[in-house]
Amino acid sequence: MRSLPTLDLEDLAARANRIRREVVEIACANGAGHIAPSLSCIDILAVLYYRCLHFNNDPSWPERDRLVFSKGHGAYGLYAILADLGWIPREDWTSFYRGSPLSGCIERDVTRGIEAGTGSLGHGLPIAAGMAFGARIAGYDWRTVCILGDGEMQEGSCWEAIQFAVKHRLGNLLTIVDANRLQAMDFLDRVLTPADRDDDLRRKLEGFGMEVADIDGHDQAALARVIGDWRDNPPPPDRPIALIAHTIKGYGVKAMENVPHFHFRLPTAADLAQGVRYE
Ligand SMILES: [Mg+2]
Repeated sequence: MRSLPTLDLEDLAARANRIRREVVEIACANGAGHIAPSLSCIDILAVLYYRCLHFNNDPSWPERDRLVFSKGHGAYGLYAILADLGWIPREDWTSFYRGSPLSGCIERDVTRGIEAGTGSLGHGLPIAAGMAFGARIAGYDWRTVCILGDGEMQEGSCWEAIQFAVKHRLGNLLTIVDANRLQAMDFLDRVLTPADRDDDLRRKLEGFGMEVADIDGHDQAALARVIGDWRDNPPPPDRPIALIAHTIKGYGVKAMENVPHFHFRLPTAADLAQGVRYE
C-alpha cells in the first residue's frame, strides 16, 4: 500500500517542472553534462514516484514496488527525485559532480532507493525480470517496473529477458521504454532501426509476445492512468506489458530538444534564453 503523498495531476505537473529546473540548474552550476537523457524521462519518473508506485518513507521497505532504472546514465532526474523524497541527502545531489558520492551512472543502494547498479546498458531488464519472477514464486504482491532507453533496446540481453518474462507470463513486470529516438549522439534510424519502420520496436516487442501500448511520455495524465491501472488492478495481467513512451530528448530546454550533440553538452545562457518549459 502506498503511503507516500499521492500528488494530483496539477501538483504532479508542478513537481515535475521543479525537478526539471533543478536538473538544469544544478548541472549547469556544477559543470556536469549528460542531462539530455535525463530530461526525456522526468515525467515518467514523476508519475511513478509521486503517484503510482507503492512506496513509503523507508526506501528499503520490504513490500515496496521495485523500480529498476536501466538507463542509469540518465541519472540526474532520478537523483533529484530521490533527494526530494529524502532518500538521499540533498547535499549529495546539489554537489553532484563536485565531490558528491553519487556517481555518473547509478550504483545499487537499496537504503537510498536504488535497486540496481546500471548504466552499462542492457542489464536492468534481466534484473527486473528476475525480481518479478522471484516475487511471483515467493507470493509477494509488489510489482516491478523497468525503465530503459530505446537505444538500449538494441542490447541482446534485453531480448533474452523479454523471452523469459513472456515465457513465465510476468504480468507483474512493466517495461517502459523511454523512446526519444536518439541513442548517444545519433538518431536510432541512422544506427540500427530501419528508417522506413516507425513501428519497428512495437513490432519486435509484439513478435516476442509482449503486450504493447504506445503512449506520449510527457502526458502525465495518460501515464498515470495506464500505469495506475496496471498497478492497482489485482491480479496482475497474465502477460508482461511494454509501454513505448514517446519522448523528446532534452525535453524542457527548447534549444536542446531532439538535438543529438546535446547528449553530453550543457546548455549555454544563449541556449536557455531560447526558452524553457518549466517556468
Ligand atoms: Mg534514446
